[in-house]
Amino acid sequence: MDQSDKDTFVPYYQLRTEIDALSESLEKQHQKHLNCKKGCDLCCMAISVFPVEFYAIKAEFDKKPVAELPVPQNDEDCRFLVDHSCAIYLSRPVICRTHGLPLLYMSLDGDDYELSCCELNFTDFDFEDFDEENTYPMDRINSILYQINKKFVAGFENGRYSETDRIPLADLFGSGF
Ligand code: SF4
Ligand code: SF4
Repeated sequence: MDQSDKDTFVPYYQLRTEIDALSESLEKQHQKHLNCKKGCDLCCMAISVFPVEFYAIKAEFDKKPVAELPVPQNDEDCRFLVDHSCAIYLSRPVICRTHGLPLLYMSLDGDDYELSCCELNFTDFDFEDFDEENTYPMDRINSILYQINKKFVAGFENGRYSETDRIPLADLFGSGF
């Protein structure tokens, strides 16, 4: 990654750092409900990401390439899940950094909050235990990521992408590393 890559992707990397700090805090708060462990991969599936995320990850791999990985058994498996572990763990996308923790969203009709979490975690809990202080504020995170991406695509390759375009993460393998 050269200096211009670093400058271009600073807001994205900052968001990633903020999310990691929040994950650490939430993991401590909800430790007794979490069954996440190395080798558990129900949460890993093929995903697509915003262009800013795709190219920020690519910039990291341009400097430190990922070794050839086995082709997944089917299209639903993440290309980077190898032997039940994430082969790009340090560079994994934002959504992967929230796996397993309680995610709070505003409902589609906007009149209530909805909670989402892995079915292997929080098997015995009371919805009343959750509030804005001990959950992921997903609407805020998605909104920040959207704005970072919007700015990125506006200045990228003469408008190659729209602000709502997404790129399959697996396409990183077709992009030169
Ligand atoms: S990038 Fe890593 S953490 Fe994310 S779905 Fe793929 S294997 Fe899982
Ligand atoms: S989020 Fe669920 S599937 Fe993923 S590691 Fe944690 S317990 Fe396992």
